[in-house]
This record gives sequence, structure tokens and C-alpha cells, in this order.
Amino acid sequence: MARIPTGYRLRLVVTMLVCTVLILALIVRVGYIQLYRGEYLTDLADNLHYRERTLYARRGDILDRNNVVLSRSSSVCSISVIHAQVEDTQAVARLLSEKLELNYDEVLAKVEKKVALQNIKTRVDPEVAEEIRAAGLAGIQIDENFKRYYPFGSLASQTIGFAGSDSQGIIGLEVTYNPYLQGINGSILTLTNAKGIRLEGTEELRAEATAGNTLKTSLDIVIQQYAQQLLERTIQQKNAKRGAIIVMNPDNGEIYAMAIAPDFDLNDPFTINDEALAAQWESMDSTSQMNALNQMWRNFCINDTYEPGSTFKIITAAAALSENVVQLEETFSCGGALTVADRRIRCHKTGGHGMETFVQGVQNSCNPVFMTLALRLGAETFYEYLQEFQFDKKTGIDISGEAVGIMYDVADVGPVELATMGFGQSIAITPMQLMRAAAAAVNGGKLITPHFGTQILDHEGNVLTTLEFPVTENVVDAEVSQTLRSVLETVITEGGGSKAAITGYDIGGKTATSQKLPRSAKKYISSFLCFTPVEDAQIMTLMLIDEPEGIYYGGTVCAPVVKELLENILPYLGIQPEYTAEESQLPEVSQIEVPDLLGMSLSEAKRAAGGAALDVLGTGEQVVEQFPSPGEMINTDSKIIVYLD
Ligand SMILES: [Zn+2]
Repeated sequence: MARIPTGYRLRLVVTMLVCTVLILALIVRVGYIQLYRGEYLTDLADNLHYRERTLYARRGDILDRNNVVLSRSSSVCSISVIHAQVEDTQAVARLLSEKLELNYDEVLAKVEKKVALQNIKTRVDPEVAEEIRAAGLAGIQIDENFKRYYPFGSLASQTIGFAGSDSQGIIGLEVTYNPYLQGINGSILTLTNAKGIRLEGTEELRAEATAGNTLKTSLDIVIQQYAQQLLERTIQQKNAKRGAIIVMNPDNGEIYAMAIAPDFDLNDPFTINDEALAAQWESMDSTSQMNALNQMWRNFCINDTYEPGSTFKIITAAAALSENVVQLEETFSCGGALTVADRRIRCHKTGGHGMETFVQGVQNSCNPVFMTLALRLGAETFYEYLQEFQFDKKTGIDISGEAVGIMYDVADVGPVELATMGFGQSIAITPMQLMRAAAAAVNGGKLITPHFGTQILDHEGNVLTTLEFPVTENVVDAEVSQTLRSVLETVITEGGGSKAAITGYDIGGKTATSQKLPRSAKKYISSFLCFTPVEDAQIMTLMLIDEPEGIYYGGTVCAPVVKELLENILPYLGIQPEYTAEESQLPEVSQIEVPDLLGMSLSEAKRAAGGAALDVLGTGEQVVEQFPSPGEMINTDSKIIVYLD
């Protein structure tokens, strides 16, 4: 081994000594820090904070079929104060109390509170928020949020539904389509010290919110308003408990209107609409209050079942014609009742309808005829049709909480139960189930899914998704459906639905007067179901009036109202009347040109309308919209709809 020179050895020893001293010093230093400064360092780390602020997503709009906005989220602001950043507490309190119309002392107390972030007011108009921002005072934070607004107030309230302040749908379409409408909230992350002040030299981390998409529906606000107005008038006239009018396209299941009365204000959905309940509201416990609100929000066309009565004869007739157990010209004899298994079950006409053909039996809505048909079918076959028409299932409508039909177990169906089911008793179904089954019976045999949603759109109105709903074909044969259509047309031309007849249109339908349970209470539901044009139905209407006073026959209470509705909405939908040579001579068919009423006051519009009657919607000063448009030709006895705003 080579000898290391002496000078080099000395340097090596010195270097090693220096290193040892340094390492020792480091150990001492670390020990000192761990022992004596640990607490200080923990404090330092704790004092670095991330402040997270939510960037709220704008909830998507709900539109009607003509892109009229039914539900919209508008921008509102929330104002808060970051105490540590405030330089002049009194100036801040003065500005905020003035602009936000709040008590100065209360605001000052909040501003002086030593918290990171103190909320002052939410749902502030963006213009007011901008005025506050413009004042440029330190320590005021303005966040943007959204407020749901329903431009038509109570219109279609149980159907459209409403969303809560957290942008979560609570009832109606707002719930069903929540995943599309809601959007995704974003956030801003800011690194701050313990006082909530952003650390110098740090960046904000920003994740932008994604706005919700738009739901386009089949609702038509013109038809909906018209149906609602007629419904409310009828309920008032008949001092009835409640009612509904549904207008649907029976070929594809699109619902144009679902008017329910009483309704409630979607902009104020937690205020009870019942005067008696409102008077004692404060003394009610929260469970009773919630029950009352749920009752008010309830859509009984979908959520509740009832005994349909004679409208159900459409289903019995469809089954009987399909099974060939009846011929159109076959004669029956009604003596005012039929004895089934020793029980005398009465016809609604106590004196009896006498000799009648099957077609006349439908026109007369004769109970013994339909009891006979049900008995001929037998319980098992009758039930096969109840299943074909899916009364044991939900219709699949795009509103939650749907009920299904309530019926006996087939093994428990004796002759009496079967006979009474034949004319629509001993079975409870929803109005929507009835409508869907009736649609299948007359549309050629297609069981459609009733629905409102048609498309999901992006913010520019581009179609992202076209919503599709199941259709079951051949529930009844096309031939049977055609026969049934023409039989039901005679109900309007010659039978109990004659009050719905409109010159120039062919309409098929069926009236009903159902007795509510218990029958001893003598309470009724009057109803009327019809479709038009008979050979290619585009409109099916079902009207129900629950507990009318006085005359309660469906043909008297509902048929004339539905006529009034159809007279106005059929031309609106482009379904024009076709007159025979004879009909075109009739006075009600002579035409006038629609005058321009826009901008006029109500009294001016009345004068300008000449002979034509006006239907007034809205309560404003002047006509902002009218239907039909100026220059169109209408029958002298039809009405012009005007909107006042
Ligand atoms: Zn009879």
C-alpha cells in the first residue's frame, strides 16, 4: 500500500472534524426544533386554509311544445361579509342595510362578528348586487345563485311540479327530469390564512359549473290555459270538490294539457290553497301541514284510482267484439234491471230501455247489455283483456307516484262481480289508465305510453336526446278498433254524448256517471271521454268532475264543456272542420275575418270583435296576444282568445 503524504493526512483529519461538528450541530438544531418549536410549526400549518365557494349550476328550463317557457331559473345573488377584509365596518353596514333594506344595527352586528364568512342576504336581485359591488368597499363578497320561476304561476302546477332552493325537483316533471335539468355545481378553492384572507401569490382554483339541459314537453300552454279556465268555471258552477281535463294525442301518447282544479301557485308551493286550512295553519303540527301540502300537490289523474263507470264500457265492448260474443245488430231487452245469481242489478234507466240493438245499447249506456257481455266473456277471458290493456300495471307516464288498478283476484270473481265490472263498477283504475286503454281501443290497437317529455335540448336549443316511450302493438285487432270507433261515433250523433257534437267534426265518445263509494252517500263523479277525428284520432279528451251538485250526469255536466274546448282547440291545432253541403248552409258555419285586437284595452277589443265572443285570459291592461291571428277566418259562433298583460 502506498504511503499517504503527511500534508494530505492533516487535511483529511480537519475535514472529518468539520463534518462531525456540522452533523452534531444539525442534530442539536433538529432536537431543539422538535422539542421547543413543534407547537409553533403545527400552528403555522393549521393557519393555511382552503376556502371553498360553490359555483351554482343554472337549472335547465322546461318548455311547452312551442318553446314557451314553463319553468326557468333566473340569476340571484347572495351577499356575505369577510370580517377580516373589512376596513370600515360602519360604512359596510350602512351600504348593505340601505341596499338590501335591512336593519342597520342587525347588519352591523353581523359585520363585526369575527367569523371567516358571514352571510347577510340571499336571493338578491343581480342589479342590487351590482350597485353594492360598484361601491367598492373591501370585505363584501357577492356570489351568484339561481332562483326557480314559473311564469304561468298555478298553471299545470301538479304536472310541471317545482324544485327546491337546492335545485332538487320535489314533485312533477321537475323530479322525473331532475338528472337532465339539474346540471353540476362548480367550485372556487382559495388558499387563505386563518383570518380568511387569500394568501399573497396563490392562485384561485376554479372548476366551472355545468348548466342543466332544457326539457321540451308536449304541453301546449294555449290548450292548457283554455282547459283550466273551462274546468274552473264548471267546478264553480257545479260547486264540485275537484276536477280534471286531460287532452292527449291518442296515437302517440303526447299530453297537450292536464288541467287539475284546485291547483296551487308554483312560485309559492308551501302556502296552502284551502282557505279553511290556511286559517288554522299556524296551530297545525308539522306532520298535518305536510300531509295537507302533499294532498294539494297530488295529481289525482295519475296518483288516485276511481270506479270509472260507463266510460269503461269501451273496454268491455272491445273485449266482446274481439271475442265475437256480440253482433252489432243483435237485439237485447232491458227491463230496467238484470237478475244475476239471484241479485237484481239495475240499469240507470229504471223503466228500462226496452228492445235495443247492441249499438243502441252503447248509445243508451244500458247496463244490462254490458252485464250480459261480461257474463258471456266469462271471468277468465274478461281478465285476459284487463291484462292486455294493462290495468294491472302503471302506464309508465313520466310523473312519479303512479297508482295501478285495483281489482278482485280472478278466482274471487263471481257472476255479480263480473257483471258489474262489465259496466265499470267493482274495479278501480286511474283516469290515466282509462285514457290509455281507450286510446288503444280506438287507435287501431296500439297501447301507447302517455307522456309529457319529448326532447332534451342543450343551451342553444340543439336536440341532445329525443325521448322515446314504449308502445305495445295489437292489444285489439285493427278491425275491432275500427268497428268500435264507428259505434262510439253514434254515441255523439245519436246517444248520450250528443251535447258534445260540433258541426263539421266527427267525434266519438262515451259519457259516464260513477257513483262514489259508499253508494249510500249518493256522491258522483261525472265524466266524458271523446276522440276526434274518428278515423284518425289526434285528440282525445277526458273530463272528470268530482262531486258535482244538482245534475250530475256526465253527458250534461261534461260533454258541453268538452265541446266548447274542442271548438277552440281543434282549429288551433290545424284540424279544420269539413262541412257537408247541408251543414255549410247553417248559420253557425258562416264565417268572419278575425280583427286585429293587439294593443287594445278589453273594452276596445270587445267592440272591435263585432259579433265574435271573446275569451279573456290574464288580468292586465291590454291585449298582448290573441288567437286566432288577425286575418284568419272563423265561424261566427266561435270565440277569440285574448291575453291581457
Ligand atoms: Zn237499460
